[in-house]
Amino acid sequence: MSHQPVALVTGGGRGIGLGICEALAAEGWCVAFSGLRDASDVTEALERIEQHGGEAKYIRADVSVADDRQRAIDEIRSAFGRLDMLVNNAGITSQGRDDILAAGEASYDKVMDVNLKGPFFLTQLAANYMVEQMETGVDLRACVINISSISAQFISTNRGDYCLTKAAMGMLTQLWASRLGEYGIPVYEIQPGLIRTDMTAAVTEKYDRMIADGLLVTPRWGEPGDVGKAVAMLARGDLAYSTGQTLTIDGGMHIRRL
Ligand code: NAD
Repeated sequence: MSHQPVALVTGGGRGIGLGICEALAAEGWCVAFSGLRDASDVTEALERIEQHGGEAKYIRADVSVADDRQRAIDEIRSAFGRLDMLVNNAGITSQGRDDILAAGEASYDKVMDVNLKGPFFLTQLAANYMVEQMETGVDLRACVINISSISAQFISTNRGDYCLTKAAMGMLTQLWASRLGEYGIPVYEIQPGLIRTDMTAAVTEKYDRMIADGLLVTPRWGEPGDVGKAVAMLARGDLAYSTGQTLTIDGGMHIRRL
């Protein structure tokens, strides 16, 4: 069994997920990360994570597919013999970004499956494995972190399905925080604001303009490392007397200003 704590970060091969993996590796975590790409396409990500000192492992697994979720946990069990933390990071935006007067069910179903059903049932698997380990006396640094979005608070009428999934993650966080409290497993939600990744690459100019016009209190794009540092803080147990809590990493975007 690994002597270092082990984290599973879904969608950890790029963007915010990679920022999280790097921050955890820098603090001595072994990091397993999942994604949709072939293993040959994530060698650079693996190297970047391992440069920080920790051991890293890639698992090709679609978070919306039940068999893939089970296999991800099984692979961690056989590779490391333990799982301390799950970071539900993988997510997709609305397919086509269509106005809600016209948006179709295909995007709705896909976004729900990846952003909400996946995290719900992966948390169920991870939590059961964590509890099983605790009952055999393993001293875990147990924790679950859900990466939702400022879109839980801000509507975008061309991304209705996405906003719905991110708002529901707040309830998902409270449900699991409540259920896992008796085992001492805290569950947190992080709401990133505008973070510079592939997901936001298509709308860079729009947000550049909005930032220049005063959208944010801290007038700059967020970087994946900004979210990574927040996850590392929670993973260290720095907020040990807190669970079901939401952290906004958004440059003050959520503050309602006149
Ligand atoms: P990204 O598109 O750059 O990366 C997403 C990652 O998730 C990729 O590695 C991708 O392979 C993986 N992924 C997608 N579908 C998957 C699936 N079905 N199974 C497993 N992995 C899958 O996006 P990002 O900007 O890094 O976003 C990461 C998370 O942060 C998402 O949940 C997103 O909603 C959230 N978020 C992003 C921003 C932002 O401004 N970028 C803001 C708020 C919240």
